Amino acid sequence: MNRRNLIKSLIAGTVASAFPLSNSVLASNHTAKKKYPWKNWSGNQKCFPDQRVAPASVTELQTLISNTKGRIRAVGTGHSFSELVPTDETLLSIRRLSGLKSTDATKKTATIYSGSILSEIGPLLNAQNQALINMPDIDQQTLSGCICTSTHGTGRELGSLSHYVEALDIVTASGDLLHCNQQENSELFKAAQVSLGALGIITSITMRNTSPFKLKRQSRWLPLDDLLPEADALSRANRNFEFFYFPFTGMSLTDSLNVTNEAVNQSEELDGNSGIMDLKSARDYLSWANKLRELILSTYMKTISPEENIDHSYAIYATERNVRFNEMEYHLPAELGLKALQEVRTTIESQFPEVFFPIECRFVKGDDIWLSPFYQRDTISIAVHRYFEEDHSALYKAIEPILQKYQGRPHWGKINTFSHQQFKQAYPQWNAFQAVRRQYDPEGKFLNPYLMRTFGVS
Ligand SMILES: Cc1cc2nc3c(=O)[nH]c(=O)nc-3n(C[C@H](O)[C@H](O)[C@H](O)COP(=O)(O)OP(=O)(O)OC[C@H]3O[C@@H](n4cnc5c(N)ncnc54)[C@H](O)[C@@H]3O)c2cc1C
Repeated sequence: MNRRNLIKSLIAGTVASAFPLSNSVLASNHTAKKKYPWKNWSGNQKCFPDQRVAPASVTELQTLISNTKGRIRAVGTGHSFSELVPTDETLLSIRRLSGLKSTDATKKTATIYSGSILSEIGPLLNAQNQALINMPDIDQQTLSGCICTSTHGTGRELGSLSHYVEALDIVTASGDLLHCNQQENSELFKAAQVSLGALGIITSITMRNTSPFKLKRQSRWLPLDDLLPEADALSRANRNFEFFYFPFTGMSLTDSLNVTNEAVNQSEELDGNSGIMDLKSARDYLSWANKLRELILSTYMKTISPEENIDHSYAIYATERNVRFNEMEYHLPAELGLKALQEVRTTIESQFPEVFFPIECRFVKGDDIWLSPFYQRDTISIAVHRYFEEDHSALYKAIEPILQKYQGRPHWGKINTFSHQQFKQAYPQWNAFQAVRRQYDPEGKFLNPYLMRTFGVS
């Protein structure tokens, strides 16, 4: 266990011992006035719920939903930057429903309690001779949080986590526990594969997995202008391929991951967190002389040797993100993504010398999930980060129209200003989703102000 996880466990242990397991109400306005404020990972979303609850079993959850007056919002581990979670009413943590429920060795599927964190799932599956097919770049989110926002990794032939959902169990507004998959409650299933927490509380998720595998990561630095003509071919030649462009350097870092049988080899890697702070220092001292900044940084980057390391799939995808940021990410048609990237680069380098975070570009396979941003199109995702203590509004106001011009759909969990009308136009199955939502939650028990605006519900 690393230091960060140890601290987290200590906090979790303290909280758990302060509240008996049979008592799923962590804090309520009846006894203590707004005592437990909530905020997300980056601190850009906050709320003061009347009540915070954390059921320890599905039966407790059903009773809670049946007995709770007013609205309920689920929260995973609060890694979304958009306004999906905040509520003034009841905030329901799903974390106590975690662990492996069952596995099917023949079908290579595993049913996992929804509050499990990705970093917990890897070793559990490995012990059952299974592994997730792909993973995002951190592993601190809950599985249900990931499914609700179509969280993705990279890989031209690989879908988002929602794409690998085989079935799920969900407690709806009536308190009923429903099982759904392609055959059973199939409409609910299509909607619940990416649901934004608007259909009910997901209790367990059956994932389509694969046998355990190791990956070799190869990272190399090269000028963006040399990379761009090759990027498409590299995305096809590697199982997982992504790259970062570092504004005001001309340089990019590519990451390629491929299956290997070679032994685990965790070679010394550059520390990404201190690297980001070095870029910040370069910005602080040199943003008045960007040519000099580019010369110094690119000269240094060109001296960094390619890196290679090998690890189990569940251990290699995620990096620790200790430097906090806010993020906007849009998913664009694959054929337009690189063109959009060049416009984003020009805009940042001509107007925003304060930017120092790299721009991240990933590849995701299309799917047929109603509210998936990858619905029926292969995608290039472009993510623009801003240091959490710095105002992102002017930057995002300039970048978002570019991403929208190239038909981008925003990541559900990241900052965007998409309106009800824009969502409706971008998602061919929008009305089908809304019909299912109204069927299972006619009173809007699982909505918050953001979702009401987004769905056009008064
Ligand atoms: C540092 C960082 C790195 C990230 N990297 C990536 C990445 O590589 N790829 C990517 O695509 N995204 C990435 N994200 C975004 C993140 O994966 C998503 O926002 C994800 O939804 C967060 O999961 P969570 O457990 O924190 O859920 P929360 O943010 O707490 O909640 C997200 C949504 O899920 C709903 N929800 C959660 N659990 C349930 C449940 N059991 N039933 C019903 N609804 C539920 C909530 O109501 C909410 O609507 C990153 C975010 C951060 C902060």
